[in-house]
Amino acid sequence: MIIPMSQPTIGNAQFKLLEELCNACAVSGDEGEVRKIVLGQMKPFADEIKVDAMGNVLVTKMGQGRDRLRVMLDAHMDEVGFILVSDEGDGMFGFQTVGGIDPRHLPGKPVWVGKDHLPGVIGMKPIHLASEDEVKRKPSIDSLRIDLGPNGKASIGDWATFATKFKRVGPSIMAKAIDDRIGVATLIELVKHAPENIDLLAAFTVQEEVGLRGAKVAAYTFDPDLAIAIDSTPAHDMPNHDSSESSFYNTKLGLGPAIYIYNRSTIDNPRLVRFLKETAESKGIPYQIRQPGGGGTNAGAIQRARAGVPVVSVSVPHRYTHSPISISRVDDWKNTISLLHTALQKVMPDLIQS
Ligand SMILES: [Zn+2]
Repeated sequence: MIIPMSQPTIGNAQFKLLEELCNACAVSGDEGEVRKIVLGQMKPFADEIKVDAMGNVLVTKMGQGRDRLRVMLDAHMDEVGFILVSDEGDGMFGFQTVGGIDPRHLPGKPVWVGKDHLPGVIGMKPIHLASEDEVKRKPSIDSLRIDLGPNGKASIGDWATFATKFKRVGPSIMAKAIDDRIGVATLIELVKHAPENIDLLAAFTVQEEVGLRGAKVAAYTFDPDLAIAIDSTPAHDMPNHDSSESSFYNTKLGLGPAIYIYNRSTIDNPRLVRFLKETAESKGIPYQIRQPGGGGTNAGAIQRARAGVPVVSVSVPHRYTHSPISISRVDDWKNTISLLHTALQKVMPDLIQS
């Protein structure tokens, strides 16, 4: 039986929240800014809320009635970024990347440094002075510096992010950290409109980008019957150099939520994959299958918790992953919320019984 309930919608309030989440700086290990937003949003709706030893925010929303499954939904709060590792005077700092960042994205990019989001720029030797070999090779992180200017007061161990402000442009969202603030915003909406046929266990997790670390302990604490990792996945749907369509896209913008079946971290539970596909088809919600291959999500850690958990990942596609700016489509976000909200209402114990 499907219990009638309030429907999540995407309006000004949800866009404003996504903007706030994307503009917050929360490199892996320093998720405080996003955690604060999540706690503020979730406190009025949670039956129980706690921050664990690693910094995960764990929200429980109890259902009603008998035979409720414990359904864990995960979205990671952290983003890729930088950590200052050497102070060279005059506001000049050596740094290391945190999470998977391609150094080709870095030279000349503005950054925000530390708690006060001090403006800086990633500097590199100018082309006039670079050797032919240096121009050809991708820059090493050691050859780059974060430059805050002589008044820029920062310390070794401070974190930095790309300095990109959220924008809505027609049907698109452009921002840093769409991976995974769009998942965090999605999970917030799902908790606010939680169905009563399940116990909803929402994990806003830390340190995904450095090895799925927060989700591992969150899954231990929640001990769920099944779990869904909500994330954002690279699209890689640009045309080929000869303008023909690439047939090797990972996902494509505009085709709806991406359901995973296989990647480097997980083989998704076939029954949950089928359940999501059938749910989407029955409601006319567009969806796509993420191309099997590289990458991974927190599902990889949750799956191996305790005695094992059936998992599946669902992502909103974005282009230009782990770069200063990514692009997603608003409709893909709406359809992801709609698919997950509809699916949760249909979760009954027979979904995982063999
Ligand atoms: Zn992610």
